[in-house]
Amino acid sequence: MTITAHPESREGLEQSLRSRGLRVTQQRLAVLRALSVMPHADTDEVHRAVAEELPGTALQAVYVVLGALTDAGLLRRISPAGSPARYERRVGDNHHHVVCTRCGAVADVDCVHGAAPCLEPSDASGFTITTAEVTFWGLCAACGSAEAVGTEHPTKETDV
Ligand SMILES: [Zn+2]
Ligand SMILES: [Zn+2]
Repeated sequence: MTITAHPESREGLEQSLRSRGLRVTQQRLAVLRALSVMPHADTDEVHRAVAEELPGTALQAVYVVLGALTDAGLLRRISPAGSPARYERRVGDNHHHVVCTRCGAVADVDCVHGAAPCLEPSDASGFTITTAEVTFWGLCAACGSAEAVGTEHPTKETDV
C-alpha cells in the first residue's frame, strides 16, 4: 500500500524542503507550519508561533529561516507600504492582496488569469512582463462596520 504524503503533513513539509535542496530542520518545519495556519504573518508573528513549539528560538533565527525559504521559492514575501514584510506559503500564482488601511489585515485577491500577470501595462518600455503585483487598499469588514457605527475614531485629530 502506498502512502501519499499530505502536503501539510510532516512528511510533506520535509519533501518540499528536500525538493528545494534544503536540509530539514525543526525550525524550518515550524516556520512552514506557522505560515500554514497564519498566512501573511510578519516575522514577529511567525517567531511567536515557532517559539511556542520550540522554546528559546531567537527572532534572528526565524528571520534567517524566512529568508532561506523565500530564496528557495517555498515562501513569498510581500511588503505592503508602511507594513513590515509578511510571508505566505501560497507561491507562484501571481495573486494579489488587499490591505486594510486601519488595522493592516491582509487578504488574498485571486488573479483572473491564474499564474500569468492579469494586468497589461499600457507601455512596458520593451520589458517582457512576467508578474504583476497589485496591492488594493481599503477597510476590512470589521473596520468598515466600526466606521459605519462611528464607535471609534482613533486617527481623527481635531486640533492640528
Ligand atoms: Zn481593518
Ligand atoms: Zn497572499
